Amino acid sequence: MNGATYTVAVRALCEFTAKTGDLDLRFTPSPTAQEGIAGHALVTSRRDDDYETEIALSGDFGPLHVRGRADGYDRRANRLEEIKTYRGDLKNMPDNQRQLHWAQVKIYGHLLCKDQGLDKVHLALVYFDIGSQKETLLHEEHTALALRAYFEKQCGLFLRWAEKEMAHREARDAQLKAMRFPHADFRPGQRQLAEAMYKASNRGVCLLAQAPTGIGKTVGSLFPMLKASAKHGVDKVFFLAAKTSGRQMALDAVDIIRAGAPLLPLRTLELAAKSTACVNPDKACHGESCPLAKGFYDRLPAARQAALDIMLPPAPSPAGAEAARAPFLALDRETLRAVALAHDVCPYYLSSEMARWCDIVIGDYNYYFDISAMLHSLTLLNDWKVNVLVDEAHNMVSRARKMYSAEMEHAGLRMLRKVVPEELKKPLDRVHRQWNQLEKDQTAEYQCYATLPEKFMGALQTAATAISDYMADHPSYVDADLQEFYFGALLFARLAESFGDHALFDIEKSEGARASHSNSVLCIRNIVPAPFLKPRFESTHTTALFSATLSPWNYFGDMLGMPDTTAWVDVESPFVAEQLSVQVASHISTRYQHRQQSLRPIAALMGGQYQRQRGNYLAFFSSFDYMEKAANQFAEAYPEVPVWRQSRRMDEAARAQFLARFTLESEGIGFAVLGGSFGEGVDLPGARLIGAFVATLGLPQINPVNEQIRLRMDAIFGAGYDYTYTYPGLQKVVQAAGRVIRTQSDQGTVYLIDDRFGRPEIQQLMPAWWRIESAVPTP
Ligand code: SF4
Repeated sequence: MNGATYTVAVRALCEFTAKTGDLDLRFTPSPTAQEGIAGHALVTSRRDDDYETEIALSGDFGPLHVRGRADGYDRRANRLEEIKTYRGDLKNMPDNQRQLHWAQVKIYGHLLCKDQGLDKVHLALVYFDIGSQKETLLHEEHTALALRAYFEKQCGLFLRWAEKEMAHREARDAQLKAMRFPHADFRPGQRQLAEAMYKASNRGVCLLAQAPTGIGKTVGSLFPMLKASAKHGVDKVFFLAAKTSGRQMALDAVDIIRAGAPLLPLRTLELAAKSTACVNPDKACHGESCPLAKGFYDRLPAARQAALDIMLPPAPSPAGAEAARAPFLALDRETLRAVALAHDVCPYYLSSEMARWCDIVIGDYNYYFDISAMLHSLTLLNDWKVNVLVDEAHNMVSRARKMYSAEMEHAGLRMLRKVVPEELKKPLDRVHRQWNQLEKDQTAEYQCYATLPEKFMGALQTAATAISDYMADHPSYVDADLQEFYFGALLFARLAESFGDHALFDIEKSEGARASHSNSVLCIRNIVPAPFLKPRFESTHTTALFSATLSPWNYFGDMLGMPDTTAWVDVESPFVAEQLSVQVASHISTRYQHRQQSLRPIAALMGGQYQRQRGNYLAFFSSFDYMEKAANQFAEAYPEVPVWRQSRRMDEAARAQFLARFTLESEGIGFAVLGGSFGEGVDLPGARLIGAFVATLGLPQINPVNEQIRLRMDAIFGAGYDYTYTYPGLQKVVQAAGRVIRTQSDQGTVYLIDDRFGRPEIQQLMPAWWRIESAVPTP
């Protein structure tokens, strides 16, 4: 939006005004992005030399500014074309989809007539079949007058909405500019963080912010970003978190900010995963199966309006009267679900729609960063200016690696080829044969390859196309395993297109269920997500990543692809050395070969500390096996001390139960695994936790995969060991130790158990405010 105009893309306008009927996400395999681009190129190459492509067009209707790019114009035939690639039978395309295509080409038709002074034009929808490479051309002739009337009608339908949006934006920005910090004062460190955020938005650069726990990071980042939004013309703020608890903290922060600015019309949306938002998990997303998909677009306008109304601030009260505090609601998962169900529409797809109209969108990292992220696509489509906040950003490296990796298991294909329809057997057999050959050629159990196996990739591509075509021709055929294989193959093929130094291709063999069958897993393993993330950062106004553990900066900058202009801030800790006794037990080695001998001295160290100061402690180990042995040893030596153990695969309730044992009155030691559920994101202030024992450096296991990563990190960054082992390990240690001091009144003790913690290069990676001392061995 710009001044008194409201800019809208042709596609967004038509989706708003011309989409009716059912939501229909039936399995109709659409072409991949590459196929789409190639299809467009092929169609345009078939046209005459003077055929114009990608024609930028725009026009106004009152305050509305409509813009977009038409696919192609044949001047001699006076024909404007909209090219759509597809697979399967064109008859299966839902009517409302076709109507949407016509709406788009009609809008472009009007803009072209106006631009070129034409009094009529042929409009064509060119459907290009990826399989047969044939075109189906639907065309109509329209007069400029009729197209203008159509344009005005569509704009008219959108205008009221746009005017309300403009009024909302104006009121929002005025309130944001006037908004005051919601607390009487900033907490120590909070102002430094808030200023860094605001300055980053001012300069339009990214920010890495290392900020300790306890300074009010969420409010300290959201508040300045909202203030900055009004000043810097930012359309939306995305708050992205690694876990549900992070999303809840963001919702709480919005409540706090809103409490200090009760008239602020701020629309906040929480995005939930489809698996949790879906109310009919036994159904498919189309009108014949799910009642919430039937007529979805007909009921969407009312649902959308109701969802917006719920977020309205209270009307200003008459002068002198006490402000009426109407309950302001954010569209969190439950509220959105209630609105959706009241209007008989799908909550998941309503939330996708509301992302277009909300000021703050709170969700998981993947909504902006993964390979087909919804928020990123919307940002590009609508040309939004966005500020992105990434909470607990030390998780980004591992999460982003997963987003850009894919693996396939041979056992799954073996089963599948026996049950697929006849037409698919041959292409799947070919993949199977190529796979067998790879297994035969590889003598080692694990091997990493410099290039992708060409013949295998060719066979996989052919199989994916065959499945696509089959599914398109048989839309009612449902086979979950085949779909899973298909999507896996597509992702594999897509990642293969961008395969490079940032990824490994490896094959790991194992014995199959039957001795005659070996099994293997093929993996394209992203290890440096930077090439994928960099463009994502570049399409934001500002992205601020914050966490208590973001050092060393170069590691995060290199791995995530932070732009060169990225600013960074190391927020001063509000805690002082006197609050935390940090002791290194250098007389113990927790290396794999010394673990057995380490059990007794570790138990003695823990027992000694417990006897000196009874209370609640957490003890962290590198594996469940080590943890169990240490807990057994301790329980035997100190049977009077309550011991609580983390178990494998604890669900949310079990995790809550484990933490509930840590009360202000309780005493005991919780045994846990470093890097697991209790090593970060756990808040046990005061006497709920008075100390921690960390009996590991948290280094990832030395195995063939990690060794390959080390070699590649060495080749790219010249820091193989540190980038693979030391930095990821020490981040977990500092996170775990960070559970002890949560507030400025907390006091506690941390034991770092291993001689390597005594090394200066390791201690350099610890928080600057720690005063590290040597522990006296317990006799
Ligand atoms: S409720 Fe579930 S099945 Fe129905 S449209 Fe929504 S996501 Fe699809």
